[in-house]
Amino acid sequence: IIETINLYKTFKLGSMDVEVLKDINVNIEKGEFVSIMGPSGSGKSTLLYLIGSLDKPTSGSIRINGRELAGMKDKEESILRRRQIGFVFQFYNLIPNLTVEENILLPLTLDGKRPGKYKERLERILNDVGLTERRKHTPRELSGGQQQRVAIARALINDPDVILADEPIGNLDSKTGTEIMGLFKKINIEKGKTIVQVTHSMESANYGNRAINLKDGRVY
Ligand code: ATP
Ligand code: MG
Repeated sequence: IIETINLYKTFKLGSMDVEVLKDINVNIEKGEFVSIMGPSGSGKSTLLYLIGSLDKPTSGSIRINGRELAGMKDKEESILRRRQIGFVFQFYNLIPNLTVEENILLPLTLDGKRPGKYKERLERILNDVGLTERRKHTPRELSGGQQQRVAIARALINDPDVILADEPIGNLDSKTGTEIMGLFKKINIEKGKTIVQVTHSMESANYGNRAINLKDGRVY
């Protein structure tokens, strides 16, 4: 479902070129739960953002569902990003003055859709993440774990094929982290979503079926 071929990413720092990803070739199949691991600065987030088309490679290619990202028009690419990929971040990235359900529906409202048409889907997803009772609350009234559940629900609202998560339990205590990993596992098994997470922890990598290890920008 996700394939990278001879992928390179270089950042310019002043007059210096820093090669952050070098010749990355990965192939992630539909339904996999993959963990990207490696030391700080090894390029994990950069790789995740390239896969999610939040950034562009310096060279090489990325295919999502067999389709080359580089060949897409901007509009086509943003539609792919919004409808086929869900993102979850370490610090949740919720909108503080919107309620739980408004946050979850945001990808649809930004897409010009009328949320009224998605009532059933919203109910189902609120139930899946265990937040039905908290739907009218704002993020500051929720615990970190609950906020991350809102972010996961938001990532699911478009029913994407792929969920990309950058250290999704990095800001949570271990008990809450275990609950959130259990939720990802459930989404992977029961909904068949392909999940790619960045993690530092072996324990959370064990929820996945495979790890990709990065070191100095290379897979090893
Ligand atoms: P961590 O575990 O600390 O989150 P990481 O493996 O996710 O690390 P990346 O965030 O991918 O690492 O960063 C890899 C390298 O690329 C780092 O040296 C970082 O400073 C550099 N880098 C990332 N984004 C940019 C950018 N936009 N401009 C310049 N350098 C960048
Ligand atoms: Mg990172």
